Amino acid sequence: MFDKILIANRGEIALRIHRACKEMGIDTVAIHSTADHDAMNVRLADEAVCIGPPAGGVSYLHMPAIISAADITGAQAVHPGVGFLSENANFAEMVETHGLTFIGPSPDHLRNMGDKVTAKKIAQEIGLPVVPGSAGEVTSLKEAKEVAKSTGYPVLIKATAGGGGRGMKIANDESELEDALSMASNEAKAAFGNAGVYMEKYLGNPRHIEIQIIADKHGNVVHLGERDCSMQRRHQKVIEEAPSPALSVKEREEIGELTRKAIERLGYHSVGTVEYLYENGEFFFIEMNTRLQVEHPITEMITGVDLVREQIRIAHGHKLSFTQKDIRFSGHSIECRINAEHPETFVPSPGKLQEYHAPGGLGIRVDSHLYSGYSVPPHYDSLISKLIVHGKTRNECLMRMRRALGEYVIGGINTSIPLHQHLLHQPDFINGDYSIKWLETHMEENNK
Ligand code: ADP
Repeated sequence: MFDKILIANRGEIALRIHRACKEMGIDTVAIHSTADHDAMNVRLADEAVCIGPPAGGVSYLHMPAIISAADITGAQAVHPGVGFLSENANFAEMVETHGLTFIGPSPDHLRNMGDKVTAKKIAQEIGLPVVPGSAGEVTSLKEAKEVAKSTGYPVLIKATAGGGGRGMKIANDESELEDALSMASNEAKAAFGNAGVYMEKYLGNPRHIEIQIIADKHGNVVHLGERDCSMQRRHQKVIEEAPSPALSVKEREEIGELTRKAIERLGYHSVGTVEYLYENGEFFFIEMNTRLQVEHPITEMITGVDLVREQIRIAHGHKLSFTQKDIRFSGHSIECRINAEHPETFVPSPGKLQEYHAPGGLGIRVDSHLYSGYSVPPHYDSLISKLIVHGKTRNECLMRMRRALGEYVIGGINTSIPLHQHLLHQPDFINGDYSIKWLETHMEENNK
């Protein structure tokens, strides 16, 4: 096994990876910007290297500085975490060129799946159902009109290099097509430096259901069931749960097995997630995430598999320690993403924590780097904590989550805890009756 791993990330996910490493007897190297000098993962790491100023572009995205940090500390592998360089094929290549192991899939898989047009083509080749739409990138209004004719309106224009819900625009009819095309393309260019866009039928009321996959370098692939991430705002996940309240046992088995087989054909290794939209009993592939997901803990809670530990073992060349038959789903799990932001206006709320008290008790897990006196820096993503509950039933989870949210004290900044408390009392959520549109429609109605 590796003796020392460099964790190329920050915040709760860096801490999550640090914890897995320590349980495996592996030393950790934290990298950090000057803004994260006092971060919990930096304090706990065996070694820490400052790699640059606060802005992500000159610190957590600065590849040469990260490679140098690995070199001077003698780390043998790099875990990229979530976001930042986790899906960057050039970084994975650079890590390997320097004789280090990238804890993730091969650069080719990162590259192919990172380009959403290529990913969709591959998905079809390996037997996955996709959302009807353009065959590749759409480069002219004329072409867009033809695609829309075949799929019917409304259509969604999406960025080829997309991520985080950016670069997406809806056209409800032909008159809106030209503006939607240029807006999506401009947004994509600004966000990703790539103006390429493609088109999909805009599904009316789907759920977002994703399958967790884990595969070793010896051809063994196992699926760990689904997560339902339909509670979204601006195409960003707010609450996730596993299993999905919408799927039957048969549907679960079928989509799990279909995905498992497809990933086997792909020759993929590491952890990964295949994302689908689900409507009227049908699944449509939208993308594959070639990394750990923020919401991975709910899968861990219902399967007992430590995904980060397995990911590290796989990167080192070990075989999976279980087969599909060994996987048993136990109970239910829900995760609330807690952000440093105003619960109604969503304005970011960085600053110093005057008080901090995390909830506890049976079935509660808090993945967070917060502590009393810590200052949430203004430079990064606003996710500050993931509150995860596990229970025998969905109902037990709902009660437990309400109890845990009520105990959680994060004093001195605004957080999205009140939003979660509100959502946990909504009859539609309690009944599991919600789609990706639910939260925004609900907020519009409340603002009337
Ligand atoms: P990103 O990589 O930016 O996250 P995705 O393709 O994963 O983009 O889509 C993110 C979210 O956008 C989905 O969870 C869903 O809410 C919405 N979405 C994507 N494609 C469609 C579609 N064809 N119809 C309706 N909603 C969609």
